[in-house]
Amino acid sequence: MTVRPFTTKDYARRMERAVSQAAGAGLTGVLVTPGPDLVHFTGYRPTAITERITLLVLDADHDPHLIVPVLERPDAAAAPGAAAVTITDWADGSDPYAAAARLLDPRGRYALSDSAWALHLLALQEALPESRYTSMTATLPMLRAVKDADEVDRLAAAGAAADAAYEQIVRVRFAGRTETDIGTELAGLLREHGHSQVDFTVVGSGPNGANPHHEMGDRVIAEGDMVVLDFGGLKDGYGSDTTRTVHVGPPTEQERTVFEIVRQAQQAAFEAVQPGVACQDIDRAARKVIEDAGYGEYFIHRTGHGIGLTTHEPPYMVAGERQPLVPGMCFSIEPGIYLPGRFGVRIEDIVTVTENSGRRLNNTSHELRIVE
Ligand code: ZN
Ligand code: ZN
Ligand code: ZN
Repeated sequence: MTVRPFTTKDYARRMERAVSQAAGAGLTGVLVTPGPDLVHFTGYRPTAITERITLLVLDADHDPHLIVPVLERPDAAAAPGAAAVTITDWADGSDPYAAAARLLDPRGRYALSDSAWALHLLALQEALPESRYTSMTATLPMLRAVKDADEVDRLAAAGAAADAAYEQIVRVRFAGRTETDIGTELAGLLREHGHSQVDFTVVGSGPNGANPHHEMGDRVIAEGDMVVLDFGGLKDGYGSDTTRTVHVGPPTEQERTVFEIVRQAQQAAFEAVQPGVACQDIDRAARKVIEDAGYGEYFIHRTGHGIGLTTHEPPYMVAGERQPLVPGMCFSIEPGIYLPGRFGVRIEDIVTVTENSGRRLNNTSHELRIVE
């Protein structure tokens, strides 16, 4: 499946949306530095993010302005959204912050990319001592969290590719091979299915599965092991992230029981998805199933995270997050139970919020898969 490239119009629309959302939040504008925010608004991905400032200024008083180091101007001008911005350059030896300050309101309040370097923020504050800055995700949480239809299509395609990789990896022999060996093969399959980048391949076998941060290692997988497989990366610029837990040979009664609790928790959280429901209630729905079954203390992380240009971004499905779900949001639902020294189980799908419910972007079976 080929995706429709984003056009200048798409980028212009995103920048307009940022300006109007900023005004709605009582802000003067939005300041964007290199990273996923800049990719979102302009498609521009500088080859390296350095101490030389690149800054996109979005406000109601100007057309979008992109301030770039003069040596990077050709790259910036070649970005797919470049036609929608005015590019201003600065040369080594000149003061880029003074150039930026001329575009900014000296008493303005700006939302700034979360990933902006402190170096740049401090210099802007020094150039305009009465200006104020807030975190973009804290003040404008909807900006990247709500995906348009083309973005959802890309996430669905990334999910389908990850699913296809999973269907192949469960057909290989696990017993007698190391976690790293399986993980390397899985990464290759993700690339075969169109991923340009593989960000993680967790292969947590036996007791290693009880550590959600375990990636993979030299442990040789054996008959009787539960194996947590959590993998993802980027395809056409958008992320995949899915987890399935498989078992080598026949599982014990307790392994089946724990697996079934996680499966029900994942299903309960998925069924809770609809516009208007608070993120924390998705977490609660999964957690309640696990707590009621007596395993609450073994579910040691939040239920999910947003996904888009990056594999971890707002919104977060976590206690205390009151943000209501909005159609177009895309996030993981990934409850787990981790029994130290023994095994872990996690099931993770990416889900998108539709007009009245949720839609899974991962669709491989939730049954406990027995591998060799
Ligand atoms: Zn077992
Ligand atoms: Zn994951
Ligand atoms: Zn995840």
